[in-house]
Amino acid sequence: VTAPQYEADAIDRLCELLLGRRVIALTGAGVSTESGIPDYRSPEALARSRTPIQGPEFARSPDVRRRYWARAMVGWERFREARPGPAHVALAKLERAGIVTDVITQNVDRLHHAAGSKRVVELHGALAEVRCTECGVLEDRDSVQARMRAENPWPIEVESTIAPDGDAELTDDVVSRFQVPECVACGGILKPRVVFFGDNVPSEIVDDAFQRLDSGNALLVCGTSLAVFSGYRFLRRAAERFHTIVIVNRGPVRGQEKARLVIEGSTGEILSEAARRLTG
Ligand SMILES: [Zn+2]
Repeated sequence: VTAPQYEADAIDRLCELLLGRRVIALTGAGVSTESGIPDYRSPEALARSRTPIQGPEFARSPDVRRRYWARAMVGWERFREARPGPAHVALAKLERAGIVTDVITQNVDRLHHAAGSKRVVELHGALAEVRCTECGVLEDRDSVQARMRAENPWPIEVESTIAPDGDAELTDDVVSRFQVPECVACGGILKPRVVFFGDNVPSEIVDDAFQRLDSGNALLVCGTSLAVFSGYRFLRRAAERFHTIVIVNRGPVRGQEKARLVIEGSTGEILSEAARRLTG
């Protein structure tokens, strides 16, 4: 057990700042790493050979889509087994206690919902849903999974290397044989309902998130470095509105000089303790 990096009274100060305020939580990959969901922007992830899927390439290239869906089929069954971690549970408790009013998340794993949070904005969408890029029809990811399994009945796992995080490394030969799922309604191109790198967050989602942020008076940033503008803009807006800003993260956060309090450490550990003290 390593000693926490933060000061002994940091959680007292966190509780003082949250109590009596209407808190919007802004979350990122750091709240889900304890649930076994890899952080694609972490140094460890970037050191791996694979790079995150790029939205414009996905739209342009049948080969990119084939590789994506082949890997996704292998990885999904493990991904969907992930369960909420201590940070998700703590935020749901704080919502029930009336302290956290809304969660704005950059994660696509639905774990805030699974933990019981009711008011969640998914900035980057959710992997649990798939949308046709042509007719717009939505399909449940489990249903697409069943269709892919039926159309690719060969033992694909045997021919691939599966990393501990569930990501599959597939050879070109395996990928070339893969039958890519199509829209059941129109035969169009399917895309998971997530914002890939290089895609924009839909404006109605951004507007919804800004409205919720404006209705509160504090921003709790947890488990994200806000390296990407789609998340950073909420910290900037909170500062413009004179919201109280507090940060809990393992590393430095863009814009942290605007925060009243920055605690560096495990989001699960720190938020659990704060929730315990604030909700009895
Ligand atoms: Zn369609």
